[in-house]
Amino acid sequence: MKKNKVIVFAIILICVVGVMINTYLVWLNLFTFKINTENFIVDANNYSIKVTKIKSNDWKLNKEIDNIIDSVQNSFIKEVNNKEGELTINYEYSKYNDIYSFHIKSISSIKNIIKRKDHILYYDKNERKVLKQKDLIKRDYGLYTIFNSKCVDYLKEKNISEYDENLLEIDDKNYQLLVFSNEEIYVLIINNNKEISVPIKYGYIKEYLKEPYYKGIEKIEEELENKEIEVTEDKKETVQENVDKTEELNFPKYIAFTFDDGPSPSTTIPLLDGLKERNAKATFFVLGNRAENQIDIITRMISEGHLVGSHTYSHKNLLKLNLTDALEDINKTNDILTNISGVKPKYLRPPYGNYNKNILENSNMTFILWSVDTEDWKKRDTELIYDYIINNVNDGDIVLLHDLYQTSVEGVLKAMDYLSTNNYRFVTVEELFNKKGITPEINKSYRYVR
Ligand code: ZN
Repeated sequence: MKKNKVIVFAIILICVVGVMINTYLVWLNLFTFKINTENFIVDANNYSIKVTKIKSNDWKLNKEIDNIIDSVQNSFIKEVNNKEGELTINYEYSKYNDIYSFHIKSISSIKNIIKRKDHILYYDKNERKVLKQKDLIKRDYGLYTIFNSKCVDYLKEKNISEYDENLLEIDDKNYQLLVFSNEEIYVLIINNNKEISVPIKYGYIKEYLKEPYYKGIEKIEEELENKEIEVTEDKKETVQENVDKTEELNFPKYIAFTFDDGPSPSTTIPLLDGLKERNAKATFFVLGNRAENQIDIITRMISEGHLVGSHTYSHKNLLKLNLTDALEDINKTNDILTNISGVKPKYLRPPYGNYNKNILENSNMTFILWSVDTEDWKKRDTELIYDYIINNVNDGDIVLLHDLYQTSVEGVLKAMDYLSTNNYRFVTVEELFNKKGITPEINKSYRYVR
């Protein structure tokens, strides 16, 4: 009898342990994030749909993915109607610590017209949570400025000249497709149905990454901190103007030439002489730390009808300062310039063209960017600078130059001589606003005036 009891007990024990192990395995299976691929094909009379999709063991994620795929399919079916068509949906993913970026791509072809739609979905496998872009990064104007500059550089570097410039406008709608990987963040640009994926190091954007995810980065490249981010905003809007010949002869065209980073006596003085000879006016965005030692030059600029604006005290990237420090830098420079000239500057050119909405809206100044970037600091060649100016300016443009180089001074004066025979007049930024009947607003930015 005693022996039987032991056997029964042993059997019960085995069963209990077995159930526990089984439960644990089920548990483990449920809570270890897994992804598979699922394929299906829809073959109708006039169209076909081929889908390769992610199937995970998290129903919340599956539901989000299905919603996207359903909406893409439905709009395709609606659009294809009785025509011939084909729709392909597939995906790619990449990982950044515990965060997955799922990129769902769909390409439809209806009567040989190809359309592409892209969606990105983020998923935190630790939290088992579907994330939105705003959970990972601060969607900020400053961030888009960095994306814009990196994309422009990348396209230039890869010699991709045919792209829709609207795609790169500093606007959140253009930066919806971000893929996070462990090495870099990728900005996807869909240009003519083709995907361009621009890699950007986390170091450039780390201040915009949100807390829990920001902490996870292993490889923040500190050395990037000190590297300068050049923003080239030479995206020009070509305005189709139907000006007939006689009108063109009667109505002058206006350009505002602007000079940054000075004053520098050896180059600024010859420039002022050249402008005087030509009765041309310009705008100088001076540095506070140079202006305070070049009082005579600032006074001369003003007495000869030029406009003096601020380029901050010491050319710091405003995006790397907190708001208080950025505003302090701006105000300090304004005080210096007011003391020298008796006039409080109204216009500011942020170094590298870098700023964010917060700085702009609290600055009490008007930010002046540019529509023509001569890249004179890189060219250092009178002829190249001259050529670039005469071939790229239009009525209402704001042109970026630096009065630090002799080549810039010679190039711009030569360009003025040529352009003045073509009915161009050279005015300060403020006069340009006047000529165009536009009142510059404070806490706003302008790239051109027309
Ligand atoms: Zn500068």
